[in-house]
Amino acid sequence: MHHATPLISTVVVGLVLAFAFGAIAQRIRVSPLVGYLVAGILMGPFTPGYVADQGVANELAEIGVILLMFGVGLHFSLDDLLSVKAIAIPGAIVQITVATLLGMGLAGFLGWSIGAGVVFGLALSVASTVVLLRALQERRLIETERGRIAVGWLIVEDIAMVLTLVMLPVLADLLKGEAAQSLSVQALLLPLAITLGKVAGFVILMLVIGRRVIPWILHYVAHTGSRELFRLSVLAIALGVAYGAAILFDVSFALGAFFAGMILAGSELSQRAAQETLPLRDAFAVLFFVSVGMLFDPMIVVREPGPVLATLAIIVFGKSAAAFVIVRLFGHPNSTALTISASLAQIGEFSFILAGLGVSLALLPERGRDLVLAGAILSILLNPIVFAILDRFLAPRDNAAPRECEGKNRESPKPRQDIPVTDLKNHVVLVGYGRVGRYVSDGLKRSGTPQYVIEDNSDAVARLKAEGLQSVTGNAVDPEVIGSANLPAARCLLVAIPDAFEGGQVIEKARRINPSLPIVARSHSEEETDHLKKHGATDVVMGEHEIAKAMLAGLGIR
Ligand code: AMP
Repeated sequence: MHHATPLISTVVVGLVLAFAFGAIAQRIRVSPLVGYLVAGILMGPFTPGYVADQGVANELAEIGVILLMFGVGLHFSLDDLLSVKAIAIPGAIVQITVATLLGMGLAGFLGWSIGAGVVFGLALSVASTVVLLRALQERRLIETERGRIAVGWLIVEDIAMVLTLVMLPVLADLLKGEAAQSLSVQALLLPLAITLGKVAGFVILMLVIGRRVIPWILHYVAHTGSRELFRLSVLAIALGVAYGAAILFDVSFALGAFFAGMILAGSELSQRAAQETLPLRDAFAVLFFVSVGMLFDPMIVVREPGPVLATLAIIVFGKSAAAFVIVRLFGHPNSTALTISASLAQIGEFSFILAGLGVSLALLPERGRDLVLAGAILSILLNPIVFAILDRFLAPRDNAAPRECEGKNRESPKPRQDIPVTDLKNHVVLVGYGRVGRYVSDGLKRSGTPQYVIEDNSDAVARLKAEGLQSVTGNAVDPEVIGSANLPAARCLLVAIPDAFEGGQVIEKARRINPSLPIVARSHSEEETDHLKKHGATDVVMGEHEIAKAMLAGLGIR
């Protein structure tokens, strides 16, 4: 059956297994990403049972990369990119060099040629876009200074890899030690110049023409009033530009999509465009991890434990140490250096492509590719753990000095394990500090009512803390987070978040802690009002009704 429909079976089996194992991983408090990889291993050729089509899975994964990079571009302006170039460019270059040298050292130890060492080392030097972005997104770090440096760094690595992939076939003979004399300078420099010219051509085209045409198209479609068309136009732009960039300019899909997003950044439509691509982006990012899992032969860990461990050590420790030292040398704080190091302590899609090309050019032995794969999957599996260690390491510091060093971008990395319970009494607990919550909070402040704010967005919480208000970063559904609000002693709970489903969960948890607490929630429809009441809200305010009432009141009608 599945042989006739490889695309359908890969998508369906991939998503179903990823869901099942992702849910199990979540349950046992491991990153769901680990579950997706396990799903991939089960669908791969090295485990019994169903084997999905690797080619199809890789292409699906590539769509995930495109949508992710488009999303990152949407939050990234050219100024942001230029503001980190001073550290991102030298940082990425030095780090690639260090990782390549370490890789060459290991290759030499294993008795491979210099050429094999160079390819192996380069493959170990470049981090996976998807893994890095997922880690930063999970911690809401993308729009902070450290996030911007990490993404800028990634873009430089991306460009370096695009150049490497083009240059490798040209340099293959030289690296194999053959025909060195017949290789003229022209033969070496020409492809390099052409590639750089193409990248520059693409960037200029996007900045000069794309910058005008793409927002125009989106504005036009937005004014037709058709949501469906708007959604379609966003997807068409993200995928179309990425594909066009790859076909016409030999630029990677990721880079093309990033620029497509970046020229929309800052426009009022970017937020909406980002939301429209979210569900697809998540689905395809999951398929990316499944496709990586499929490549993994678990037996290599048993067959060659030494080289696997050495490869892993280069990725997790060697690369990170280099990145840490460089970032510190540039005068950034420890927290920034550690975040960048942890972000880069893994390898992914580019490494597979590079190792594959190395094998097909007879530069890299097949064993080298297996080691790269093993290193990739183990480092991706370890990455959430690396970040967890980082969170633990940074947590006390964040508590002690909430606004140290990084100015407005300072933030704590994650809701922490032991959030202290507030000592406020007879206070109002406010969940959500957005358009509604901010208004409420200002009113409470004016009236001198003590308040405790729970908000998901750490930048907003940093602002609150700066004003001297007690608040916590995190999802109010998290028992630890809601538990910190001292609900038994609270006067009331205001749930000012737009999502009624999540609102219902918050209310249910709060009710369990304090059955007699007055709870007021926010809704957008009659159904949501019912849902919130069913979960224990004392009172529900429907935004749309209040707007209508205010409009009538303006006319003197009640
Ligand atoms: P708005 O719709 O503009 O009032 O914004 C709602 C605010 O609530 C945003 O700042 C969100 O970050 C925040 N928010 C949404 N869901 C949650 C949640 N479950 N826990 C804490 N904050 C949330």
